[in-house]
Amino acid sequence: MQTIGVIGAGQMGSGIAQTVAQHGKKVLLADIDLATAEASLKKIDAALGKLVGRGKMEVADAEALLARIEPVGDYSPMAEADMIIEAATEKEPIKQAIFEKASEVLSQGAIMASNTSSIPITRMANFSPDPARFIGLHFFNPVPVMGLIEVIPGLATAKDVTDRTIAFAEGLGKEVVLSQDEPGFVVNRILLPMINEAVFVLGQSTASIEDIDKGCRLGLNHPMGPLQLADFVGLDTCLDIIKVLYKTTRDTKYRPAPLLVKYVEAGWLGRKTGRGFYDYSGEAPVATR
Ligand code: NAD
Repeated sequence: MQTIGVIGAGQMGSGIAQTVAQHGKKVLLADIDLATAEASLKKIDAALGKLVGRGKMEVADAEALLARIEPVGDYSPMAEADMIIEAATEKEPIKQAIFEKASEVLSQGAIMASNTSSIPITRMANFSPDPARFIGLHFFNPVPVMGLIEVIPGLATAKDVTDRTIAFAEGLGKEVVLSQDEPGFVVNRILLPMINEAVFVLGQSTASIEDIDKGCRLGLNHPMGPLQLADFVGLDTCLDIIKVLYKTTRDTKYRPAPLLVKYVEAGWLGRKTGRGFYDYSGEAPVATR
């Protein structure tokens, strides 16, 4: 695979674009409009600048990587893509509209992949022209750093499409976990109930934000506590995922914590808005409760 389309240029889409370009491939990067895709490229540029500053990347490599990412204002250039990866907001109607539009340019043999955290792959495959070439490709945040990708074939996904997708993921230097198309796949099925429960613990004033996170860091040997991790994921994304788990399984263990809903209603979405369970405006994060 030489050319990859990425649709949705937020935290994940920009990380996917950076990682794919770092492995020598051309990336066509789209978002709601050209200006948003271009702004995302600027953020990638800044991230590369930090790597160069820390001596982790040569200037020439950073420049070459950046030159391989082309922000686009519509999907027509993606007709040359071998794979189109959707990484937009975790809302099914948004993804449906993207797949239907991208279907108009998807070339013969090209794969359409979704970075969804929780929405069923088999169902979304129907939004594409060929469900046999539709697959889940679930990266982790931050993409350039995290070593795992989940690959999720839907019911109709062809075996050779799964094989090509695994080879693509491994070619990015990542380890692959293969998951069946069940709600939350493997990692989020385990992670999201933990994050949601941590918010219940906070909402019931059982412990402070810092102590909940400290408890999990030191007591469970996790590198980061669940509330801090939720801020990294994005609280809107966490809420969207837990809602999908609740809706698809109807199991009350997945009911969203009311305080998580409140934070999202307040627009406190975590690191990406500068405030979630922690405030990121100063030198070091400060707990907000
Ligand atoms: P984000 O809010 O940072 O970015 C979402 C992007 O989608 C924004 O740039 C937004 O402008 C764009 N978008 C919205 N509507 C669009 C449209 N109609 N067309 C094109 N672009 C559109 O969110 P994110 O954290 O990057 O999450 C994106 C996807 O990745 C979600 O499906 C999420 O579940 C999944 N994901 C997130 C994480 C995580 O840790 N944040 C990890 C794995 C997977």
